[in-house]
Amino acid sequence: RAKTEGKGTYRFFEASMGAQIRERRSIEHDLRSAIANNELGLAYQPQAQVDTGEVNGFEVLLRWKHPTRGDVSPALFIPIAEESGLILKIGEWVMREACREAASWKRPLTVAVNVSALQLTSDGFVEFVQATLEQTNLPAKRLEIEITETALIRDPNRALVSLQRLKEIGVNIAMDDFGTGYSSLSNLRAFPFDKIKIDRSFIQAVHANPQAAAIVRAVLGLGRGLGLPVIAEGVETSEELRFLGLEGCTEAQGYLFGRPAPIMEFMQLISDNIMVLPKPLIRAVGD
Ligand code: C2E
Ligand code: MG
Ligand code: MG
Ligand code: MG
Repeated sequence: RAKTEGKGTYRFFEASMGAQIRERRSIEHDLRSAIANNELGLAYQPQAQVDTGEVNGFEVLLRWKHPTRGDVSPALFIPIAEESGLILKIGEWVMREACREAASWKRPLTVAVNVSALQLTSDGFVEFVQATLEQTNLPAKRLEIEITETALIRDPNRALVSLQRLKEIGVNIAMDDFGTGYSSLSNLRAFPFDKIKIDRSFIQAVHANPQAAAIVRAVLGLGRGLGLPVIAEGVETSEELRFLGLEGCTEAQGYLFGRPAPIMEFMQLISDNIMVLPKPLIRAVGD
């Protein structure tokens, strides 16, 4: 009996695997024409000063509006774009759009662009970034690239060379999702990072879980020790912000300050230097 059940389970597993593979192939196929069909767009999310609520810049997040599926999550299509190599073309599109957009702003805010392993280690990536900065007239210091630790593991030597050259031309480099990868501490020393982004899983557990709070404190201490600014991602509540403020975290990003949205929604904020948070909340942070 157990044997037939096992077999049935296996067949079911096999069938659902087949469906999953077909699903991935279909997404990959449609992604190929997504740029040409104008289905890709960018959402911008503010990164703000914890004590004043002032906006320092924006992270750029890719959005895909599929003609029949509707909005497809980057968590689903980015890995497919990476495995198929499509991320190279898509990533170039993102970089150009983001630099062009940032160059048009009335104030010199930063723009943070996510870059995957394949892009970072591909031939000509640094030259491409340099050319894009020149073509769009965006000063290199206003561009930040976000790299995850997994991006470094793939080809650490090539990644290091690219990052060093990007740093030489003046681009800032942030380590994304810090705390979720492998050997985080040695990576911080081996690669030329300018900033640490604490992964949102720690921020969101800060009140329910003392271990998460301890990790956030430790990362903030690490940042101070290494002289690297730390930004907290995924801040959703004023309690989380208050905790971060008291622990000395200076910069934050999350739904509390604003959800990723079309840049049009932030135009007034960009030109007028208005705060993203209501004043009483900001005062509560510093007491
Ligand atoms: P990420 O770079 O760590 O981006 C942060 C993710 O957290 C975004 O998800 C953002 O929408 C979400 N987020 C921000 N604040 C909050 C919050 O307060 N609460 C919650 N629950 N979530 C929040 P998104 O847009 O779905 O992107 C997922 C991932 O896809 C990104 O993680 C990044 O790794 C990747 N990605 C997005 N755009 C690009 C891109 O242009 N290029 C590459 N290579 N990867 C990208
Ligand atoms: Mg990011
Ligand atoms: Mg992140
Ligand atoms: Mg992430």
